[in-house]
Amino acid sequence: MAEEMNIAVLGFKGGVGKTTTAVHLALYLQQRCAAQAGTSQVSLLLDADPNRSASRWAERGSPFPVKVVAGDPTMSTPSGFQHTLIDTPARPTPEQLGLLAERCELLLLPCSPDALALDALMLTVNALDRLGAKHYKVLLTLVPPWPNRDGAEARSFLQQAGIPLCRQAIRRTVAFQRAALEGVCVNQLLDPRAKQAWSDYVAVGEEICHEQV
Ligand code: ADP
Repeated sequence: MAEEMNIAVLGFKGGVGKTTTAVHLALYLQQRCAAQAGTSQVSLLLDADPNRSASRWAERGSPFPVKVVAGDPTMSTPSGFQHTLIDTPARPTPEQLGLLAERCELLLLPCSPDALALDALMLTVNALDRLGAKHYKVLLTLVPPWPNRDGAEARSFLQQAGIPLCRQAIRRTVAFQRAALEGVCVNQLLDPRAKQAWSDYVAVGEEICHEQV
């Protein structure tokens, strides 16, 4: 894995799981790397969404295992962290988008498998293409359970459009809403479905780490 990795979680639409993704990947990377690094703080979560959802999530779960800093997408972050996850506003300005593209190793674009989210995703992808940013990847989120085919259909649409996509998708489950309410990682809930939900983010985290080597 690269020495330092900045990951912006972004997209032009709200409600597609940006905050949930930024929180869980920060927690995953913290858990994965803290032991190796011999320090308790390896992940930083920059809450650059003016809604401050990530900050409130962490406050509800205090003490939260990851350091959370509130700011805007262009602020410089404290040094010394191996990973910085940036939760961004649903409508970043072109300047913010350009800066995020420049300073992040990965731009992760959560998208739920529905027409409105896919429309907004295409606008985001077009804006990144215009910037010449190639280091983005879509993460399908809120994917309804089988036998619903929305996730598979969205995947096939994105693949045909040649848009880079995480192999792993995030299932839709109410456990994520409960985790936000309690201010914890979904794997802390006493519910077998919550453990499965966590395994989705673990797989995404692994995918990211292997590709950044
Ligand atoms: P965004 O940051 O894009 O606005 P959020 O992460 O705040 O999106 O999620 C929007 C809503 O959807 C919240 O109520 C959140 O708990 C819920 N949510 C997010 N991911 C999932 C999921 N995988 N399954 C079910 N609900 C989810």
